[in-house]
Amino acid sequence: MERVYNFSAGPAVLPVPVLEKVQRELLSYNGSGMSVMELSHRSELFQNILDDAESLIRELMEIPDNYKVLFLQGGASLQFDMVPMNLANGKKAAYVNTGSWAKKAISEAKKIQGVEVEVIASSEDRNFSYIPEIPTVSSDAAYLHVTTNNTIEGTAMFDVPESAVPVVADMSSNILSSVYDVKKFGLIYAGAQKNIGPAGLTLVIVREDLLGQVEGLPSMLDFKVQAENDSMYNTPPTFAIYVAKLVFEWIKEQGGVAGIEALNRKKAALLYDYIDQSDFFSSPVEPSARSLTNVPFVTNSAEFDKAFVKEAEANGFENLKGHRSVGGMRASLYNAFPIEGVEALIAFMEKFANARKGGEVRV
Ligand SMILES: *Cc1c(COP(=O)(O)O)cnc(C)c1O
Repeated sequence: MERVYNFSAGPAVLPVPVLEKVQRELLSYNGSGMSVMELSHRSELFQNILDDAESLIRELMEIPDNYKVLFLQGGASLQFDMVPMNLANGKKAAYVNTGSWAKKAISEAKKIQGVEVEVIASSEDRNFSYIPEIPTVSSDAAYLHVTTNNTIEGTAMFDVPESAVPVVADMSSNILSSVYDVKKFGLIYAGAQKNIGPAGLTLVIVREDLLGQVEGLPSMLDFKVQAENDSMYNTPPTFAIYVAKLVFEWIKEQGGVAGIEALNRKKAALLYDYIDQSDFFSSPVEPSARSLTNVPFVTNSAEFDKAFVKEAEANGFENLKGHRSVGGMRASLYNAFPIEGVEALIAFMEKFANARKGGEVRV
């Protein structure tokens, strides 16, 4: 079976060497005669996997010692609730509205009792095609919530806003893709299925002084309880953590996050440069805000868009359909997506455009 070029926005492509290692170790991990799926989470073998995963992510992101690293479940979506539950503590919470996921974070925070949500900046006026100027947050706010990469709209926030209150970031779709200074954040969270590993794992990086502000939270929803139990308050998603550990090792081999970012910039530039010089395809996103990991593009007709997605699929380019809320196409170029796939896509786009311009029906 040939592998396809998988442009999915998530769950997304994983590095082939990681999948091959998973396959080799599937039946008997490290001479145990058991799969990682079958190991007790209290076993030494699994504890070593968890410890390695934590030390690797600390090294890759240069996470300072006064931050906890948590391996949780529930996806980024549960963090939309856990963050206000744990951090708002009767204060106002400031949010930046840069897209569909930010909107969900805002609407969930509003459901948490006692939390007053203030949307201090938004790019909704122009279809979320840019990153808005972020005003100074009043010091009586508990935190400022941002989304560093807007997966659906294809914009990214590369500069972390200076803020007197802790900055909380949903980094689900560009964690480990671009270098960010962890010290500038109070809390970072990310669902794993875009750049880290299998769905079902959620990474949370949280500054210790932000823990334990709210008493009496349900244990599973309390960052302090999860931190005190080193992510093992209950059975953690063991297999997903194991795969994440292998992905972290792979990233380290690629030159760490800086090395991966350089490659991601190259991949994204190839595609944006092609789109910008094309008179057939165009990008709906303001150049200064363009994401490295999610690249939306359109033709001038919904019919061509539809035909493009269909014919691309027939040629081994999968999951190029844009999110249902924005239409068009979207190529997700996460860390594991190979540069040859970008080159092949561009060649296919050129062929498709030329055939359409020449009046042919199919390429
Ligand atoms: C995918 C995504 C989410 C949702 O993640 P789940 O793990 O499915 O809850 C939230 N925020 C961003 C930015 C995303 O890309």
